[in-house]
Amino acid sequence: MNHIFPRHTKARPPIAAKGDGAYIIDTSGKRYLDGSGGAAVSCLGHSDPDVINAIKGQADQIAFAHTGFFTSEPAERLADRLVAHAPKGIDRVYLVSGGSEAVEAALKLARQYFLERGEPQRTRFIARRQSYHGNTLGALSTGGNAWRREPFAPLMIDTSHISPCYDYRGREDGETPEAYGQRVADELEGELQRLGPETVIAFVAEPVVGATAGAVPAVPGYFKRIREICDRHGILLILDEVMCGMGRTGTLFACEQDDVTPDIVTIAKGLGAGYQPVGAMLCSSAIYAAIEAGSGFFQHGHTYIGHPMACAAADVVVQKLTDGGMTDRAARMGDVLNTALHDAFGQHPNVGDIRGRGMFRGLELVADRDTKEPFGPGLGLHKALKAAAFEAGLICYPMGGTIDGRRGDHVLLAPPFIVTEDQIGELMDKLSTAMNAVLP
Ligand code: PMP
Repeated sequence: MNHIFPRHTKARPPIAAKGDGAYIIDTSGKRYLDGSGGAAVSCLGHSDPDVINAIKGQADQIAFAHTGFFTSEPAERLADRLVAHAPKGIDRVYLVSGGSEAVEAALKLARQYFLERGEPQRTRFIARRQSYHGNTLGALSTGGNAWRREPFAPLMIDTSHISPCYDYRGREDGETPEAYGQRVADELEGELQRLGPETVIAFVAEPVVGATAGAVPAVPGYFKRIREICDRHGILLILDEVMCGMGRTGTLFACEQDDVTPDIVTIAKGLGAGYQPVGAMLCSSAIYAAIEAGSGFFQHGHTYIGHPMACAAADVVVQKLTDGGMTDRAARMGDVLNTALHDAFGQHPNVGDIRGRGMFRGLELVADRDTKEPFGPGLGLHKALKAAAFEAGLICYPMGGTIDGRRGDHVLLAPPFIVTEDQIGELMDKLSTAMNAVLP
C-alpha cells in the first residue's frame, strides 16, 4: 500500500473507512465531524440511503453507455429536474464529471457561441482576483488566485482580472455597500473599454466566493450592475456555482439571492453530494439556439459525460434538495450556524469577519481586529489550524494567501445540511479548541 500519488508526498493521511451521517470514521476508529463537507461537497452527509440505493439500482440496469451513441434515463431525468428549478431562461444541461470540467465546457461553449454568430475576434475572458474556477488550464486561467496560477502562467488563455466584491476589505470608510458594489462592478466597464468590448467573450465570477476567500457574497446590487454591463456590451455572464450552488447558500442556485440570471451557470460538488463525481453546465435557450442554428454540434466532450450512475445519484440528490426540503433545511440550519459562530467568535480578538450565506460560512483571521492586519505567511496559520482541528476530530477548510496571494487566513465551514443543533455546538467547541491551540 504505497503506490498512490498523494496530495502531499511528505505526509500520508489516515484512511477513511466509513461514513456515518455528518461523520467520517477512519480505520483506527477515530470519528471526524465533517464541518466543511470535504470542500463543500457532502451536503447530505456520508450515508444517505436514498442516494446509495439509486446508485445500486442503476448499476443493476446499466452502468455506462457512451453519449456518442446513447442518452440514458437518469441523465434525461436529471436534466429535466435541474431545468425545472433553474433560473428562468436557463433550459439546457450539459452533464460532466466535476467542477473544472463544467467550467471548461462553459468557456468553450461561450467561445463557440460567438463563432456561430460570426464573431471570431472574441478571444478573451474577464474574471476576478481572489477567485477559483478549477485546476484544468482554462479554468485555472480564469481563476484569480496568484499562488495557484503562477507555475502555469505561460500556458494560460487570455484572461484579465478585476477586483472582487469583498466588502470587509474593499469597502472604504463611509462608503455604502451599494456604492461600493457599483464602484467595483464598474471596473468591468473600465476593463472592457481598455480591451475593446468586441474582443471579450464573457465575464466569469462565483456568486459567493468559496475556496479563495471563505464564503464572501457580493453586496446587494453588484451582480445586477454586472449583468447590465455585460448586456450593454453583448458579452456573456458565466456564474460559477460549483461550490456555492445546489442549496449550499439556502437557495438551490446562489444567484437567485442576487436576483440575476446568468447566460451560463456551472455546478458540481453538491450535485453529486460526494456519492458520484458529477457536474453540469447549464445554459440559456439563446446559446443553445445559436449552436442548433449553426453547426448543430458542440465541439467538446469527454468519455464519461452524462454517466448513468452519476446521473442516477445526482437526480436523487436534486430531488432531496428541492421537493425533499433539504435546501430549506440548509437555509434554516444556516441561521443556526451563523448565530453559533457569532456567539462563539463574535468577540474573538483574532476573528475580523464572520460572513456567508446558508450553510456556507467563513471566518477571516486577523492579527488585529481594529486595523484588520492579517497574520503573516511565516506563521503558516491555516495549515496549523487544519491540523489542530483534525486532531480534535473536526474537518474544516482553512486557507491562506487570500488577501494579496501571500498573506491572510480564513476558515471555510460548509457542513452537511443534515447536521443537528448539537453537532453545530460540537463544531464550535472543536473549532475553539483548534484556534486556542494555534493562535499566537
Ligand atoms: N469552481 C469553483 C467555484 C470551485 O470551488 C471548484 C473546486 N473547489 C471548482 C470550480 C473546481 O471543481 P473540481 O475540483 O470539481 O474540478
